[in-house]
Order: sequence, then C-alpha cells, then structure tokens
Amino acid sequence: MDCIFCKIIKGEIPSTKVYEDESMYAFRDINPEAPVHVLVIPKEHIESMDKITPENSAVVAKIFEKIPAIAAEAGVTNGYRVISNCGPDAGQTVFHLHFHILGGETLPAHLLG
Ligand code: AMP
Ligand code: ZN
Repeated sequence: MDCIFCKIIKGEIPSTKVYEDESMYAFRDINPEAPVHVLVIPKEHIESMDKITPENSAVVAKIFEKIPAIAAEAGVTNGYRVISNCGPDAGQTVFHLHFHILGGETLPAHLLG
C-alpha cells in the first residue's frame, strides 16, 4: 500500500517526531498553518474518520487522551484546535486518519472558531 503516513511511521520518509508510543505517532506538519501544527496518527492504517469502527476505535480514544500532552510538548501554552478532515469537501489529502493540532497564536475564527 502506498501510504505516505505509513511510510513516515516506518521511518521510510523523514519526519520531525513530537511523540510516539505503541499505538500512535505525532510529528510536525511539513506545511504548517500555525506556529504549532502537529499531526497525530494511529500506527494502524485507518483511511479516515469514516472508517472508524467499534473494532478499531480504541486507538482514537488513546489519541484523544494523549493530545493535551502532545500539544504541550509541541509548545502550546494558550489553547489549541483539533481538526480531522474527512473526504473531498473537507479537503482531505492524505488518506490515513490524522488529527491536526493547531496553536501557538490566536487562530482565525472562521469555520471552526
Ligand atoms: P489533510 O489535508 O487534512 O489530509 O492533511 C494532510 C496534511 O499532511 C497536510 O497539512 C500536509 O501539509 C501534511 N503532510 C503531507 N506530507 C507530509 C510529510 N511528509 N510530513 C509532514 N506532513 C505532511
Ligand atoms: Zn497509512
């Protein structure tokens, strides 16, 4: 399977790691849209939010339990936003489930604020 984020997990494509454990990997977005822009991904390949099931959702809970610590580790001190784009209208470009953590400045209020 030709998945760029699976390759990042395997170390075949370089990334700037923020956090890693047995079930997830967090790294800096290559094209940051805020001073802090981190992606958190499950090590298991799940295509998108649409593919979360009772069988694979435990990792999603683990990711959300860890996001505050990952955000702090990445340098957030004054709040952050978590986004997951799912499908064409949301502009999903990488089809391996990922959660954007954005912070480090007052974020624009349109759409999500
Ligand atoms: P999305 O548009 O929600 O699917 O987000 C995909 C994100 O992955 C974008 O913000 C990209 O900048 C980011 N991205 C793509 N390739 C890499 C890479 N090699 N390392 C880090 N981030 C990447
Ligand atoms: Zn993948």
